[in-house]
Amino acid sequence: MFNKILIANRGEIALRVLRAAKELGIGTVAVHSTADAEAMHVRLADESVCIGPPAARDSYLNIHQIVAACEITGADAIHPGYGFLSENAKFAEILEAHNITFIGPRAEHIRLMGDKIEAKRTARRLGIPVVPGSEGAVTEEAEAKRIAAEIGYPVIIKASAGGGGRGMKVARDEDEMEIALHTARTEAGAAFGDDAVYIEKYLEKPRHIEVQVVGDGVDKAVHLGERDCSLQRRHQKVWEEANSPALNTEERERIGMICAKAIAEMGYSGAGTIEFLYEDGEFYFIEMNTRLQVEHPVTEAITDIDLVNEQIRVASGGGLSVRQDEIRFHGHAIECRINAEDPRTFVPSPGTITHFHTPGGVGVRVDSGCYTGYRIPPYYDSLIGKLIVHGRNRVECLMRLRRALDEFVVDGINTTLPLFQDLVANQDIANGEYDIHWLEKYLAAKSQG
Ligand code: ADP
Repeated sequence: MFNKILIANRGEIALRVLRAAKELGIGTVAVHSTADAEAMHVRLADESVCIGPPAARDSYLNIHQIVAACEITGADAIHPGYGFLSENAKFAEILEAHNITFIGPRAEHIRLMGDKIEAKRTARRLGIPVVPGSEGAVTEEAEAKRIAAEIGYPVIIKASAGGGGRGMKVARDEDEMEIALHTARTEAGAAFGDDAVYIEKYLEKPRHIEVQVVGDGVDKAVHLGERDCSLQRRHQKVWEEANSPALNTEERERIGMICAKAIAEMGYSGAGTIEFLYEDGEFYFIEMNTRLQVEHPVTEAITDIDLVNEQIRVASGGGLSVRQDEIRFHGHAIECRINAEDPRTFVPSPGTITHFHTPGGVGVRVDSGCYTGYRIPPYYDSLIGKLIVHGRNRVECLMRLRRALDEFVVDGINTTLPLFQDLVANQDIANGEYDIHWLEKYLAAKSQG
């Protein structure tokens, strides 16, 4: 087991990792920018190192400073959290060269899945169902039109190096293709420095369903069921739940086993998420995230498995703590991502929290680094906390969520809490009837009404 883990992240996820390390009796090192000197993860860690000015590229993305912090403190492993350096293959390689363990998959797997064209090819080879589309990158308009005609319009053009929902364009017919291809390539080039794009069939009303997997890095892997993350705004997840209200037991087991088998065959190490669009009973692979996800707690709630503990175990050579046949799924869990944003316009709302009170009681978990008097810096993303609620079934979970939201107080800044109060009272949500476009439509209707 490790002696000391350096957590190369901030906010709620830094705290999340810190908690897992503490339970294992492992020392913790926090790193922080000058803007985060007062942050909770810095206060709770055994040691802390300031790694630079506020801008992320000078601090949380500054590999040189982070490796130096490891050497100064004698940390023997790094947990990257999500975002920042978590899917940076080069970072994983640099750590290896310095004899520091990267708590995550091997660099080759990060690189493979970071290239979406290669990821799709790999998925297909491993027996994972994929969205119909081009075999590889598409550059010529004539070729794009030929492929689109073959799979049928509408199609979506996506950046191979894409992420965060950027660089995607929909073409509804041949006339739209020319502009869509050109715009997607220009955007991809500007955003990712790589203008390779590929084409997929555009699904009209899919759900976003993802499968949590953990591999031992050799030949074993388990799946921990799925999460439904269809409630999105601008391709950003807002509300996530497990299980998906749309799947039956047979579908759940089938897709879970396909994913676990593929991950075992890859020799993948640690936690990962295989993302699908789901429509009319069919799953279509879209990408794999080679890290811990923001929404991992809903899986923890229904399986009782601590995913960060599992990541640390695997990275230290201890293997998986469970076999597939030991994993039990119980009840229902929902996570709300609480952002420091105006609940109507979604304009970020940094500033000082004058009063912070979190809900508690049976089945309620809050992951947040906030406290009364905390000043939210304007430099980072606006997620300030996650409310995760668990119940014996979805109805109980929704009742509990409504109660927990009523208890939650964040004064001094705007938050998206009121949005969740609306959602939890909505009939479509109660029925579990929503697709990936539902939230955008709901918000558009509300802003008009
Ligand atoms: P990113 O890595 O940028 O998040 P993804 O491939 O995961 O890109 O896609 C992000 C979102 O875009 C999906 O959750 C879905 O809402 C939408 N999307 C992606 N591919 C398709 C498709 N073939 N049809 C319809 N919507 C899609």
